[in-house]
Amino acid sequence: MTAPIVRSLSELRGMTQDWVRAGERIGVVPTMGALHDGHLSLVAAAEKICTRVIVTIFVNPRQFNNSEDLANYPRTEHEDARKLERFAVDAIYVPDGDQMYPGGFATTVSVSGLTEVMDGVYRPGHFEGVATVVAKLFAQSSASDAFFGEKDYQQLQVVRRMARDLDIPITVHGCPTIREIDGLAMSSRNLLLSDRARVNAPLLFEQMEEIAEGVVAGGDFAALRTAAVKRLEAANFTKIDYLEMRAADDLALLNASMRPTRLFAAAWLAGVRLIDNIAVGG
Ligand code: AMP
Repeated sequence: MTAPIVRSLSELRGMTQDWVRAGERIGVVPTMGALHDGHLSLVAAAEKICTRVIVTIFVNPRQFNNSEDLANYPRTEHEDARKLERFAVDAIYVPDGDQMYPGGFATTVSVSGLTEVMDGVYRPGHFEGVATVVAKLFAQSSASDAFFGEKDYQQLQVVRRMARDLDIPITVHGCPTIREIDGLAMSSRNLLLSDRARVNAPLLFEQMEEIAEGVVAGGDFAALRTAAVKRLEAANFTKIDYLEMRAADDLALLNASMRPTRLFAAAWLAGVRLIDNIAVGG
């Protein structure tokens, strides 16, 4: 099924009004395009429980803290639409910058606490950009359900908090990270890796698994972390922004796994910043 590409909010509202009136369950899958199987797993999850599915594609300038990253971000709208053909998608919403941020736009949604660690520190303004655009997409789509990947776990928790705090009547579903066969978490940014860097990239997940298994077996997190960092540096990872163990709910820093715990990492490989996270135990 070829879903219509909708570029204006009035056109989108024209569609959703009827769906809302008919009591349909509307799912929204926000993306920045360059779709891969990770994104498509969210669409599949939406299709399963919703009667209408809207996929949004918007490379949101407000969540980029680096203009080069924004300029280099892959844009593949035609292929994206083609990849969605095998799903029951009712609309692909592709607003342009003016549609989302018309002249005079003056509002920022800011979530405190959860955004003061990890990517909140290394990407100033990033989560304000995310929370603002996602709040808009929730309002624009009239969705009852939204689908986000655990790949961006901190983002998932920020979006959940934002929807709860602003009383937005939407259920936020977190979906598992989809990986390449060698373990590398799928990401649109993987397209930017050179062939050589792509060979080393799965080491990040490998080392994270080693730490997680070590912690579960009673090992010392700090020692396991030091060994992993050494191996990553030996494989040309130039900078590790963070490699931390945190509580799965409020992202509090932990040095032992006492409650549902995740391991989070962000690391640079040949000019590309990779992020990943996994559960520690259970
Ligand atoms: P992005 O286009 O990178 O902003 O991602 C759009 C949505 O897809 C977000 O909810 C991401 O967490 C999710 N996503 C990205 N990569 C993956 C993946 N490998 N597995 C599952 N979900 C993903």
